[in-house]
Amino acid sequence: MAVAITAQGLGKVFNGTAAVDRLDLAVEPGELLALLGPSGSGKTTLLRLVAGLEAPDAGRLLFGEEDATRLAARQRRVGFVFQHYALFKHLTVADNIAYGLRVRPRRTRPPEAEIQRRVGELLDLVQLNGLGKRRPAQLSGGQRQRVALARALAVEPRVLLLDEPFGALDAQVRRDLRRWLRDIHERTGHTTLFVTHDQEEALELADRVAILNRGRLEQIGTPDDILDRP
Ligand code: ADP
Ligand code: ADP
Repeated sequence: MAVAITAQGLGKVFNGTAAVDRLDLAVEPGELLALLGPSGSGKTTLLRLVAGLEAPDAGRLLFGEEDATRLAARQRRVGFVFQHYALFKHLTVADNIAYGLRVRPRRTRPPEAEIQRRVGELLDLVQLNGLGKRRPAQLSGGQRQRVALARALAVEPRVLLLDEPFGALDAQVRRDLRRWLRDIHERTGHTTLFVTHDQEEALELADRVAILNRGRLEQIGTPDDILDRP
């Protein structure tokens, strides 16, 4: 299920400036890699390239052995969680989580009983048991991001992309969610790219940290490699 992601000379130019500048990067299957860097360093553009929401101007992108750039966004099977909750406000929590399964063509759509079962499992996983009938407006910010993660996981993604998912939350909630996300990751084992500009968050969460600057990879390593700790 979890695939390696390989970028080879991957580039994206906007208005004559490289947002992602011929980047080489190898993410291992099941790895949680944090992309750390200042605003404008190309983190979101890299995620959008991986998701198929942008087309590269240069280079190659592989999922396992497969050329991902040949696949449309829908075919890549990525789960995406954004900083600002992209939940449907008129749908219940359960229906938000089921959304990606229900919109599938009939041929690949699971039967409704199977969808219900999977939603139950996911509510369990993200610790929102009993809240399936609520609407997003009746949840806290942290709870909404847990729904967003459950929705991303519902489609059994090959790759999980998280773009500053805790960026809009207050410090204590962020800390709790970090530990929670780490725990979920150990249990589900998705290849995960986690964008943040918070160094502490990157070092605490990630297997490895990639530091981006002006669209280039400045450094990559484990938290111990990156930090000069005694
Ligand atoms: P980060 O996520 O690290 O803040 P981004 O990937 O959002 O960085 O942006 C990298 C650079 O690319 C910035 O200079 C940004 O203004 C530019 N950029 C990103 N998306 C677009 C776009 N759709 N059109 C034009 N420029 C863009
Ligand atoms: P972030 O830095 O958190 O990624 P931004 O506010 O920079 O968010 O970008 C939000 C959206 O606007 C993204 O889809 C990005 O691709 C786009 N964008 C960013 N910079 C530019 C730009 N200079 N011109 C046009 N679109 C941009």
